[in-house]
Amino acid sequence: MVESLSEEEEEFEVIVVGGGPAGLNTAIMCATRHLKVLLLERDKMGGLLATLYPNKIIPNYPGFPEGIVAIELVRNWLRHLRLTGVTVKQEAALIVAKDLTVTTYKKKRRSRVAVIATGTNPRRLGIPNESKFSKGGKGVYYFASHPEEFVGKKVLVVGGGDTAIDVALELLSLADEITLVHRREGFRAFDENVETVRKSGMVDFVLKGEVIAIKGRNRVEKAVIKQEGKKLQKRVDAVIIAIGLIPNNEVFKNLGLKTDERGCILTDRAQRTNIEGIFAVGDVVHGGLRLITVAASHGATASHFIYSYVKKPYWAREAWPTEM
Ligand code: NDP
Repeated sequence: MVESLSEEEEEFEVIVVGGGPAGLNTAIMCATRHLKVLLLERDKMGGLLATLYPNKIIPNYPGFPEGIVAIELVRNWLRHLRLTGVTVKQEAALIVAKDLTVTTYKKKRRSRVAVIATGTNPRRLGIPNESKFSKGGKGVYYFASHPEEFVGKKVLVVGGGDTAIDVALELLSLADEITLVHRREGFRAFDENVETVRKSGMVDFVLKGEVIAIKGRNRVEKAVIKQEGKKLQKRVDAVIIAIGLIPNNEVFKNLGLKTDERGCILTDRAQRTNIEGIFAVGDVVHGGLRLITVAASHGATASHFIYSYVKKPYWAREAWPTEM
């Protein structure tokens, strides 16, 4: 049962929904401007960095020339969050409403601004046995979160983007056998990384191919691949499905936000959505480069405009971008 809005302390200037890189950075940056901020996260702080690839070395976050382990970056943000006095609740937001109330399964809270930072989740292939074997370590994964699990294993990776190629790279020295199935001949991933994988000679590329089923009694044993009209079965211990990300839209699907055809939110250069008082940041936003540094920069941009929207300093009008 959701409580009503009665207690004064339940009013905030900014409520950020989602504790991934974009949400954390937005909360930190708003709090450094002395806005009263609540951050809601339903699962682990750090978003995909914490749930999918905690041990991955992030090679391209500026300021860390040797790279930084994903979970270490999250810990630094959490420390910063505490120092800036953000209120943090581990609660799943259920609804963000036009009147700027945010309802979780526990409470309804009012805010001047709501920031949607709900991020994305891995896209599912939707093939037989995928769902059954994706729970409890039965051989279907959406990232190599713990690469050591694949030592000596026969692994099939699906996809042609940076995630799939990063997974293949990571497993080069660990897995016994790697097969990469991609539905095209070309790749979206960085050319340089595709070349490294190719040159390793350790990956069997199945191009213009698709995985149509996974087989096994209690865990993954085989994958069925279709390539140019022919079907083949391959013995595998694990299938890693890395076919992109879909926006987490549960909290805003009935809000009337403008989105693109994939469901990613349209914003202007101030990270404003089409609804007054509602901003969106990070991977859930249309068109942004899906990089951690971009998520962080959304936080910086949003906080600047949120401050001018809430506090209305004399320069506020100059601050707003004139074009979408
Ligand atoms: P992408 O959307 O970039 O790539 C998804 C891949 O999966 C594409 O090759 C796509 O094929 C394929 N695909 C999509 N749907 C299906 C399907 N139903 N069946 C078979 N194949 C399918 O997703 P990623 O997760 O790789 O990357 C997401 C974002 O994160 C990107 O912007 C990427 O650049 C970024 N990223 C950056 C990294 C870095 O900087 N090191 C690391 C990881 C990710 P098609 O090409 O035909 O559409």
